[in-house]
Amino acid sequence: MLPTQKLSRSRTRKRRAHHALRPVNVVDCPRCNSPKLPHAACDNCGYVRPGLSLEIQKEE
Ligand SMILES: [Zn+2]
Repeated sequence: MLPTQKLSRSRTRKRRAHHALRPVNVVDCPRCNSPKLPHAACDNCGYVRPGLSLEIQKEE
């Protein structure tokens, strides 16, 4: 299949204007201060939010 019409540079660039990647948001764990993703358990200590923390299994 081929495109029926050539896309102008302008149309191509307008489409790609939305393709930029945004940096991943990282927050500091309030319990151990290591970087973690928001709304996710901390890799280091398993903290999620006050009243909830998960046990972490260490890989061996
Ligand atoms: Zn932590």
